[in-house]
Amino acid sequence: MGATPYLSIVIPVYNEEENVRRLQEQVTAAVDPLGIEYEVIYVDDGSRDRSFEILRELASGNPRMRLIRFRRNFGQTPAMAAGFDAARGEVIVPLDADLQNDPVDIPRLLAKLEEGYDVVSGWRQKRQDKGLTRRLPSMIANALIARSTGVRIHDYGCTLKAYRASVLKDVRLYGEMHRFIPAWAALEGARVTEMPVTHHPRTAGKSKYGLSRTFRVILDLMVVRFLGGYGTKPIHLFGGMGFTLCGAGILTGLITLYQKFFEGIKAHRNPLLMLAVFLFLLGVQAIMLGLLAELGIRTYHESQGKPIYRIAEMVNFEKAPAPVDS
Ligand code: UDP
Ligand code: MG
Repeated sequence: MGATPYLSIVIPVYNEEENVRRLQEQVTAAVDPLGIEYEVIYVDDGSRDRSFEILRELASGNPRMRLIRFRRNFGQTPAMAAGFDAARGEVIVPLDADLQNDPVDIPRLLAKLEEGYDVVSGWRQKRQDKGLTRRLPSMIANALIARSTGVRIHDYGCTLKAYRASVLKDVRLYGEMHRFIPAWAALEGARVTEMPVTHHPRTAGKSKYGLSRTFRVILDLMVVRFLGGYGTKPIHLFGGMGFTLCGAGILTGLITLYQKFFEGIKAHRNPLLMLAVFLFLLGVQAIMLGLLAELGIRTYHESQGKPIYRIAEMVNFEKAPAPVDS
């Protein structure tokens, strides 16, 4: 298989020995008929079962399969990031290894992408997971993410999505962030849409997550929201908070003075004095934090040569000042 693939399928695998064989069959059955060059990248995230042996055996007879094996379990997001880094395709489609996503949906996602989108997000309209511990927290998280990022798709958590590779090139993934890629991409100017996909119940192996993931997701949401809104101007957020707090402190101080002179309440006996000092100091701290964040952000952008803007295309230019997304 000499030609560079058009499609890279990226699959994070952690203890899925009962699923990988069927999965590879399903992928082949779904994608082979399209007649495109493709590769399937499995990232074994430190499985302690036979997942990798099985994959190795399958890959020995199939050059489309490429395998990466982690030294230990790093988590689904790092596994996906490794797959994205290794992917050579123009289009990248991540997929769960547990057969809950259905590779049959891949051709539809690709067709949608070709209509002129950069991200097509899978939407598990009929999600087959437990209601109270899985679906409810996920509904809340999705609503929160959609509201606070302004990217209104229904199902951030669904792994099955299609990305134009240029969109993923600049995304650095931390924490549980793989689910924020659509929001992230939209902030960078990508065209994002969604499409319902099939979802099956897990029939073999165990789910790796419980309720605690919700909290991690919400914390990550704060990070995304902050970086998206204030990533290049943190002082505007911290400084704004700082001014508000200082202002509140000064106001409380004035009330204390008023009460001293007109109502005869001794300032050192008035709890408002404490509050005034407290608020003012907090305000000063916030401004200082903002200045530090400004230093940090400069190091980040300049050490990595990261521009603070994204260009879609340029005309009559010899050389682009920043990488141009294709
Ligand atoms: N996974 C992984 N590393 C982990 C946890 C999960 O690579 O530490 C993989 C797992 O094998 C599966 C996908 O990520 O392919 C989604 O995991 P799971 O099905 O447990 O999540 P759920 O569908 O329950 O949200
Ligand atoms: Mg699953």
